Amino acid sequence: MPALRRRDLCAALAALAAGMAAVAREADAAPKKRARQLPAPAVRPATPAKPVARARLIALDPGHGGRDPGAIGARGTQEKGVVLAIARQLQAQLQARGAYRVMLTRSGDSYVPLRERVARAQAAKADLFLSLHADAHPDSAVRGASVYTLSEGASDREAAMLAARENRADAMAGFRFAHQPDAIAQALFSMSQRGTVNDSRRLANTIVQSFAGNGVRLLPRTHRQAGFAVLTSPDIPAALVELGYLSNPHDERLLTISQHQMALARALRASVDAHFRAATRKA
Ligand SMILES: [Zn+2]
Repeated sequence: MPALRRRDLCAALAALAAGMAAVAREADAAPKKRARQLPAPAVRPATPAKPVARARLIALDPGHGGRDPGAIGARGTQEKGVVLAIARQLQAQLQARGAYRVMLTRSGDSYVPLRERVARAQAAKADLFLSLHADAHPDSAVRGASVYTLSEGASDREAAMLAARENRADAMAGFRFAHQPDAIAQALFSMSQRGTVNDSRRLANTIVQSFAGNGVRLLPRTHRQAGFAVLTSPDIPAALVELGYLSNPHDERLLTISQHQMALARALRASVDAHFRAATRKA
């Protein structure tokens, strides 16, 4: 073999040997490198995944809407607008820090029939139903908030008249009146079977206490009962809150002020908290 070619062969063999040594070194180092990149997971005993508790769902029902303005104040304030603004404030309060989930039975200026409002809350499996209103009274001196729950026989004539006014909302907006008295009796029967009547009364009492404790002016003897069509979900504790009187100049002004709307929303949020705290203690 000529000297030149032998030299080439020697160089090639040396290069091959060097290459193999480098591959071997790398292969040796690789596990250490990988070990540095991906630390071995600490050995822990297997624990079953904790089910994440879903936040409770609160159905907020701003009354009226669309063709039905609800009560109208001396300065022209419409109930449908005021209660939607307060519902939105309350929605923000409830959703803060993911404490609750919230659904609105109407989120714009449209009319949703009373039966549809109940159906929407039921379909979404709401845990609580709050219907928000503002009333009007022939006596403009009457002012303050009041809270109502469902009952077949009204607790007093005024509550009966109020329920009749609120139930007429469907007719006002051009819908046929869907809830006859026997439908309310039927709903009440199912509610009493499931304990919803008592839960609703408890809810109403916490709202009254929370309003009183947060400086919200209340009507005397404020928790009353009547046949409100919108409170007929058989298994959802429900209350209707009249947040004040648009027929009273002072209440009308307050209900349009964002600060007062926020104060009402805070008081309602506190009552929702209190309601579920009591329910947890009871369970
Ligand atoms: Zn109303």
